[in-house]
Amino acid sequence: MCVKTNDEKYIASTYARFPLFIEKGKGSLAYDEDGKEYIDLGTGIAVNTFGYCDEEWIGAVTAQLSAVQHTSNLFYSAPDTELAKLLCEKTGFKKVFFSNSGAEANECAIKAARKYAADKKGGDYYTIITLKNSFHGRTVTTLAATGQDTFHKDFLPLTDGFCYVEANNTEELEKAVKTNKIAAIMFELVQGEGGVIPLDKEFVQKIAQIAQKEDILMIADEVQTGNGRTGKLYAYMNYGINPDIVTTAKGIGGGLPLGATLFGEKTANVLTPGTHGSTFGGNPVCCAGAVNIISRIDDKLLDEVAKKSNYIIEELSKCKGISNITGMGLMLGFNTLKDSSEVIKECREKGVIVIKAKDKIRLLPALNIPWELLKRAVEVIKTVNS
Ligand SMILES: *Cc1c(COP(=O)(O)O)cnc(C)c1O
Repeated sequence: MCVKTNDEKYIASTYARFPLFIEKGKGSLAYDEDGKEYIDLGTGIAVNTFGYCDEEWIGAVTAQLSAVQHTSNLFYSAPDTELAKLLCEKTGFKKVFFSNSGAEANECAIKAARKYAADKKGGDYYTIITLKNSFHGRTVTTLAATGQDTFHKDFLPLTDGFCYVEANNTEELEKAVKTNKIAAIMFELVQGEGGVIPLDKEFVQKIAQIAQKEDILMIADEVQTGNGRTGKLYAYMNYGINPDIVTTAKGIGGGLPLGATLFGEKTANVLTPGTHGSTFGGNPVCCAGAVNIISRIDDKLLDEVAKKSNYIIEELSKCKGISNITGMGLMLGFNTLKDSSEVIKECREKGVIVIKAKDKIRLLPALNIPWELLKRAVEVIKTVNS
């Protein structure tokens, strides 16, 4: 396979790839170079929200591509404005900053939180609490935010001003707030890379309480959980909280690179001219695609997401080789009796693509995966693990 040898020769060796080259796809089906068909339950890590090459999305993207592909943020532009309006109307957030990735969306949130605290309380209130086992990105600052030492080593020193508490440990959280000058608490409502682990409702309520009382900002990293993935437009909506900042990326663009940082009442005007920017941020083509994606995530679709989620959980629970099913909506993880790499390999051989999160199998199917394909894929997973 020429792609494989050239990849190994010319692409920086940062990725342990599966031995599969997806040449094309349609909806929830992917095809390798031999034309073998796969049901894709990975969606490029929760990116292809409506699967591969969705017709409506292609229409929106190509129409914009033929009008104007980029203007820079020196000029007004329609697609990013329309997308920001749509996001604000659907969430109640006030303003949006667009970037190109999850890490950048988080960088923006971190800068805004530091500036909010500096403006209000003074420059020594810069520390941000994040959770152990979290994942917030690969830049030096978002690595610092990531509460996993394995990602840190070899890249020290990282950006100063982060401290880590164990997820769902209220005592540790209270202690961290007492002993540091805190600007913000940043968390994934469902830890994705950490193993698809949802936070406890009580713990999230506690974060909200403390944040309110101490005027500490709540930053929800919804890079993976956002855009319908957990059965609500954003996962915080499952928890009855109102974060001050929400970051998202992955699924928002339906396959094109786009990051967004949403600002609520308190934080809407923290960033002022010259304090932040991005050359590609809010790219018209990416935003036109995202308008299509976000406008299609309605109650009917979300209801289907919940039904499909319940179906997967119910079916996999019957399987002897599967345990500890966690997650929300169409972001699910589970442990397997068999080694997870072996499970992924066997599923692939039987025409189903699943991915990993730590020691777990992770499922992130397209939000509109047809029932018939979902049922077939679940049968394969059950067969492999029975
Ligand atoms: C994927 C992910 C990121 C990083 O996003 P990139 O687009 O790879 O920079 C950050 N936070 C969470 C929760 C993620 O899942």
